[in-house]
Amino acid sequence: MQFPDYQTPKRWADFLVTPTVDPVRRAERLRFGERNIVLPAKLAVLAIFVYEFFFSNSFEGLNTIGDMALHPVKRFLLGYLIINVGVVGVYLWMERLPFSLVNSITWIVNLIDALFVAAITVVTGGFESVLYWVFLVLIVRNAVSVPVAGPQLVLNFLTIGSYVAAVSLYKSIVELDPLSSPVLIDLGREPAGLVMSGQTGQLLLARVLLLVLLTACCYGVEVLFDRGLQAEEEAREFSTRQEQLTSAGRLAAEIAHRLKNPLAIINNAAFSAQRLLKQDQSGALEKMQMIRDEVERSDRILTELMGYAQLAEGRVERLEFVPLLEEAIAQVFPPAAKFEVTIRRDLETGLPPLLMQRAHLEAILVNLLLNAREAMQGRGQLEIHAKQNDDGAVVIQIKDTGPGIPERQRRQIFEPYFSTKEKGTGLGLSIVKHNVELYGGSIEVESTLGKGARFTLKFPAKVLMSLRK
Ligand code: ADP
Repeated sequence: MQFPDYQTPKRWADFLVTPTVDPVRRAERLRFGERNIVLPAKLAVLAIFVYEFFFSNSFEGLNTIGDMALHPVKRFLLGYLIINVGVVGVYLWMERLPFSLVNSITWIVNLIDALFVAAITVVTGGFESVLYWVFLVLIVRNAVSVPVAGPQLVLNFLTIGSYVAAVSLYKSIVELDPLSSPVLIDLGREPAGLVMSGQTGQLLLARVLLLVLLTACCYGVEVLFDRGLQAEEEAREFSTRQEQLTSAGRLAAEIAHRLKNPLAIINNAAFSAQRLLKQDQSGALEKMQMIRDEVERSDRILTELMGYAQLAEGRVERLEFVPLLEEAIAQVFPPAAKFEVTIRRDLETGLPPLLMQRAHLEAILVNLLLNAREAMQGRGQLEIHAKQNDDGAVVIQIKDTGPGIPERQRRQIFEPYFSTKEKGTGLGLSIVKHNVELYGGSIEVESTLGKGARFTLKFPAKVLMSLRK
């Protein structure tokens, strides 16, 4: 018997969601599309409008048409012009503004543009206005400059809504006062009559369907296009990271192998000397023991260093942060153990995957959570935040309500073998730091004594970008 595949709808849904567009690429699109093409074109059209309304005689003596006064139209145009002057400023200084702000402004400006074209549609004949075609262009432009699924679809449906509203408004004005249609500018209008005909409803529906279809097509094309680009970039990123880890691993293995032999010889020699000096009272015996202890210690360090050799064998993967975090939480705070720790999660949705070796991310999370648990002695509050910065970097914060870390220790805690715990190895945070830095990331700690500690990890979007700094 075949069971229904419950995964399929989810897979389809995942496929239809636009991949996270790299902020650098988004900024390039805005710079090219909005700043270099749309803005100059819009300003040119506006200049023509301003000339027509304020400086030419085209509308002289034309104070009211239908119920619409010329004065409010002029004011509306002036308002739109002022907004666009502000927009010029935003795009000229966009590199200095937070990227999320530029994105929000782009969304609002695109909506204002749709409302402006809708208003002009009302004064150029509603359904008969040739400006319908401009709405098609607006939809394509929205898809390019707002590549995130939700905002893009909302914007395009609002654009379609503003067209329908414009046509309806025109129609109701004409119906109220059939003798005076509010046509200010004759932009390629078709003969009147169609306005009131029964065909209008059907034709309007067809036009709206075309707009909806174009919205869906733009969205689909963009999903495919962005997926292709993302796959290409990821392949490049994968191989860079893998190569880096492989060479780091090879180097470590080489050093460890070369050092292991001489150390073994020193150890043997010390052992023999120790036997020979057994009768001696000068303290040479303890010195010999010291040599042996130190050699053993060096040996442990080298064994650990050899662990780096595994880097060459490990595989870089696309890791979803949230499920891995949940696994680490379940490992450190198993429900059966009944720790009195409340865990608050503030995890941004749509975080990009981290390109890392699974074991590295697991070690980072488990070590940080273990330290937090031990610091709070199993009782307190743990806060975990994760978000993506404007530059594409993923920022993760883990905050506990333990005793905190004294200032003078904050510099030492990342050093290997530094520990304040009776049975601590002092290796946890040095491994965390090492694993984060392998991917061009960073780790910082802030702490207020008596209130707790907060560790902040930052993983750059691209390892090459962070290594170039
Ligand atoms: P270990 O846990 O074996 O001591 P680590 O390298 O993980 O080794 O930690 C080093 C030291 O940093 C700890 O001994 C402790 O003093 C301090 N430390 C780490 N995390 C915390 C924390 N969340 N709160 C307070 N102190 C911490």
